[in-house]
Amino acid sequence: MSDDVTKVAIVRCERISEACAGYGCLTAFNDRRVKFEEIGDAELVGFFTCGGCPGRRIKRLVKKLQSKDRAPDVIHLSSCMLYDEEQDYISCPAVDEIERMIESMNIKVERGTHH
Ligand code: SF4
Repeated sequence: MSDDVTKVAIVRCERISEACAGYGCLTAFNDRRVKFEEIGDAELVGFFTCGGCPGRRIKRLVKKLQSKDRAPDVIHLSSCMLYDEEQDYISCPAVDEIERMIESMNIKVERGTHH
């Protein structure tokens, strides 16, 4: 893969992952829909849960990804971490802090994946 390919990782809610196999996030990425519509050439280099409130293992796993050849350029916070009126999701209370923490590691953050 060339350097023109955007390396993407997705972090999602540990609690909601108990009832979610990741289909929505992964098909949105594979089909370049919704939050991935404009992404162009991209590959998924990480897909992991936060580890439980308040995002317990995100920093550790992001560091691990950063140590790899294919370190992420951007990390998407999954739609399940964000309030969704239609689906009645409660947004993650730590989402702002999680976003700041990832950005402090020099990685761009995008909010949302499939809705
Ligand atoms: S920190 Fe946010 S994303 Fe992680 S389990 Fe708690 S509510 Fe879900």
